[in-house]
Amino acid sequence: MRLQLRLISALLFCTLAVPSAVNAQGGYFGRNKVQYQDFDFKVLKTEHFDIYYYSEEDEAAHIAARLAERWYTRLSTLLNHELRGRQPLLLYASGPHFRQTNAIEGELGEGTGGVTEAAKRRIVLPFAGPIESTDHVLGHELVHAFQYDITNTNANSGANSALSLPLWFIEGMAEYLSIGPVDPHTAMWMRESARREKLPEIRKLDDPRYFPYRYGQALWAYIGGKYGDRAVGTLLRASIGRGGVESAFEQILGVDEKTLTKEWHEAVIANYRPIAEATKMPAAFARPVITTQHSGAGMNVSPELSPDGSRIMFFSSRDLFSIDLYLADAKTGQVIRKITDTATSAHFESLQFLTSAGAWSHDGKRFVFPGIAKGQPILVVVHADNGKKEREITLKELDEVLNPAWSPDGNQIVFSGLRGGFNDLFVYDLSAKAVRRLTNDAYAELDPAWSPDGRQIAFSTDRFSTKLPTLQSGDLRLAIMDVGSGQVREAGGFDGAKNISPQWTPDGRGLYFLSDREGITNIYRMSLDGGTPRQLTNILTGVSGITNLSPAMSAAEGRIVFSAYENDGYNIYALDGEQMLAGTQQIDLPIPAGVLPPRRTGQGAVFSTLTNPAIVAPAAAEQAPPQPYKAKLGLDYVGQPTIGVGTDPFGTYAAGGVSFLFSDILGNHLVATSAQMTSRFDEFGGSAFYLNRQHRWNWGFGVDSTPYVSRAFESGIVNNGGQNYYLEREYRILQTDRGVSSVLAYPLSTAQRFEVSGAFRQVGLKQDVTDRTYDINGNQLSEDTTTLSSYPTLNLGQAAGALVYDTSVFGVTSPIRGSRYRLELSQTTGSLKYTGVLTDLRTYMMPFRPYTFALRGMYYGRYGSGAADERLPTLYLGYPGLVRGYDPGSFEAGECGVSVDGSCSAFDRLIGSRVAIGNAELRFPLWGALAGGDRFYGPLPIEMAIFADAGVAWGKTNGLAFSDAARKPVSSVGAAARINVFGFAVAEIDYVRPLDRPGRGWLWQFNLMPGF
Ligand SMILES: [Zn+2]
Repeated sequence: MRLQLRLISALLFCTLAVPSAVNAQGGYFGRNKVQYQDFDFKVLKTEHFDIYYYSEEDEAAHIAARLAERWYTRLSTLLNHELRGRQPLLLYASGPHFRQTNAIEGELGEGTGGVTEAAKRRIVLPFAGPIESTDHVLGHELVHAFQYDITNTNANSGANSALSLPLWFIEGMAEYLSIGPVDPHTAMWMRESARREKLPEIRKLDDPRYFPYRYGQALWAYIGGKYGDRAVGTLLRASIGRGGVESAFEQILGVDEKTLTKEWHEAVIANYRPIAEATKMPAAFARPVITTQHSGAGMNVSPELSPDGSRIMFFSSRDLFSIDLYLADAKTGQVIRKITDTATSAHFESLQFLTSAGAWSHDGKRFVFPGIAKGQPILVVVHADNGKKEREITLKELDEVLNPAWSPDGNQIVFSGLRGGFNDLFVYDLSAKAVRRLTNDAYAELDPAWSPDGRQIAFSTDRFSTKLPTLQSGDLRLAIMDVGSGQVREAGGFDGAKNISPQWTPDGRGLYFLSDREGITNIYRMSLDGGTPRQLTNILTGVSGITNLSPAMSAAEGRIVFSAYENDGYNIYALDGEQMLAGTQQIDLPIPAGVLPPRRTGQGAVFSTLTNPAIVAPAAAEQAPPQPYKAKLGLDYVGQPTIGVGTDPFGTYAAGGVSFLFSDILGNHLVATSAQMTSRFDEFGGSAFYLNRQHRWNWGFGVDSTPYVSRAFESGIVNNGGQNYYLEREYRILQTDRGVSSVLAYPLSTAQRFEVSGAFRQVGLKQDVTDRTYDINGNQLSEDTTTLSSYPTLNLGQAAGALVYDTSVFGVTSPIRGSRYRLELSQTTGSLKYTGVLTDLRTYMMPFRPYTFALRGMYYGRYGSGAADERLPTLYLGYPGLVRGYDPGSFEAGECGVSVDGSCSAFDRLIGSRVAIGNAELRFPLWGALAGGDRFYGPLPIEMAIFADAGVAWGKTNGLAFSDAARKPVSSVGAAARINVFGFAVAEIDYVRPLDRPGRGWLWQFNLMPGF
């Protein structure tokens, strides 16, 4: 549900609108967005929305259309605003489909449940499965559309727009207006924050330590509860004013930020104190298994106990760069093995860790977990003993696969599958290799669990409570299916609460499950023979995974493990022994724990609007028939026009530049143009580029013209025929680079792509001199421009092909894990003929944290008759980022020694038409190395490195002769410090000893580049 706040990639695209730099898929390196599927988009028009969807999600899209209109009514009432223009809504059937969208630039992470962007005010989201979850994302994103429209925000907006407001303000408001003041998940965060006495001051809510969604929602709930929910819209309008959020508080609420912080904290502490007194933290009654102290990681979730209760599979962030699957001993918590390595894997695009867990086979020998590979859902079976992959099942008919469970006979795997935007139950038969569908409806069917005798499947569903005709979504309750007949019966759960994650008791006569009865998620046990459920935990925070529906509990013989929210993370605890698993009577809390202070029950304008049955979703019959999608280009972004007007001794001149980016709603077609002009016609520069991203093959073509102008001036008094004149002379060198070009790219995976490009370029050089004469009174007498002779125009045909691979993980100043390479062959013909060969291989290993060992081997050579032409850019070994210690600016005349022809061998040997370079670097975060623990960079985004560089350059005529003193390789050793400056540039300082510069010792060197 992250809001795309800045159109950074579109901006980059604009500035990179030179064809050689524009790439359908990234640049020199980079990961790819792969269009695995072609979607046949259609448009469904409702009163306020244009809904873009494809056939597979037909039923879900028609439901979403009705939900969207209901949200429109609610939000236009709450914010007292009607949206200008029609609201575009792009729907994808699943997360993997959504991550292929071109409507949003850049990579979309797994945690992104939807995006609202500012250029076209598009809402783009995948169906979440349960109608209630999709409905929430839809409401959340529509709040953003209202925020943009109310504040006149678009992609060009800077200050005084929604884009300038803090994330807690924007995202917290979207959560508050789409969920309201009753939210057990956010309330859990606030209770924990209050318990630790770590409630943040409002002015510190920008700190990335405070998740803006949860803290922002809690603060908005407080403001709404204390000052009335009308204050939400009023504050939005006031906050884009000059004084920002703080002055809006004073103006609208009549309190300053400090007082508001104090009142908010007091209300939270006062509300939650009685709950804290009636509950316990897990360590008080359960055994810690995997906790932050043990593992040095904040997130340990989705625990799955082996059938004998001895081992646990779980997801953890202990490697910092990704969430991966680990195997641990259930007694000691000792990690036995890491099962997956998604950070640097070219294979796994997702492990579905947000909403899913894996499952053990009943003999405890195998483990199955779901994932996404090549855009399709997979089930991966691994050997628990050695972690080796035994089998990978691709489920082509489905979009996502969640929460598998193995049948007791070991032959079938049941899971919740996403298809067409809805969750249903499916069974995969391992010997028949066939999928069977168990349910087929718009209701959610989640968390299936096989009974010990294999005859029944327990699961969680909203089918007993959701009313599809009115789209009134209800709570998740427990159900049991008879596998033989397919009959489903309700198994129970608490009214008005979520009831999820059923697990069978070993005798098959009862279920353990999670419920947020009373507003806190705890473990309960119920007997299928009837009777009141018993309570196993009574936690202050809650039994929880990352989201409120994530799996968080697993039961085996005599043991239950669960993950609980604490210390801003998730730890895994165990309940051991039959007595613990028997539970106690239900414990009632003094007040409902799921309400955000200051309110103690659901009330206020937001709550009553969200729950008002009179605000109905319009009937399906009111929708017009869909129309096919037609791509129409519309303006997304205008680059800052720069107009400079000035007067100098040579007259008035003007220069200006402007760029435009156009695209269609789906983002499949892009047109970028730019123009730069001065008052001199021949100095015009500009470009136009078209890119097609509709299919997996991305292609584009363009034209461009770039002038490079340099000028020199001289002036003086001249005497001509006894008359004195004042003469001003202007020399001008104008190099013009014009071309037509095309590019074609095919991503083999998110990590690897193949690309080809072709171009015809014309490089012209023009030199002229302009004389202007003036009399002694300053009156201009003449102006005379003479063209000087120069090089003939170069006509070049160019073609290149490259294979690019990238699984690297970037730290803050350089890559720290994974590997990447680029292999490129290029041919230039015409006025200059040469072949270019490039191989660039890099690998980053982290044998122990936080130290990275980085290696690079690179070769670039030009071959052919034109390879050593002086008009080509020089290949120089000493440029920053190649061989350090040989910066061209650092050379002194004394280093050249004495030569007859004036050449400088110490310098010349760094230049050639072929270069080979090798680098080795040990890099580590300064903070992580000094302080240890899990905070890698801590508050200091500084990286230190010890390095050795070497390189050799040679030319066509010189040959590679190591015996020739002038051509021998050069090397250096040294140390470097790199710092990330405000997230947009990396600065590197080197203390380096060049080993092949006689008479030169250690030097300081500086450059502005990320590490290789
Ligand atoms: Zn958002």
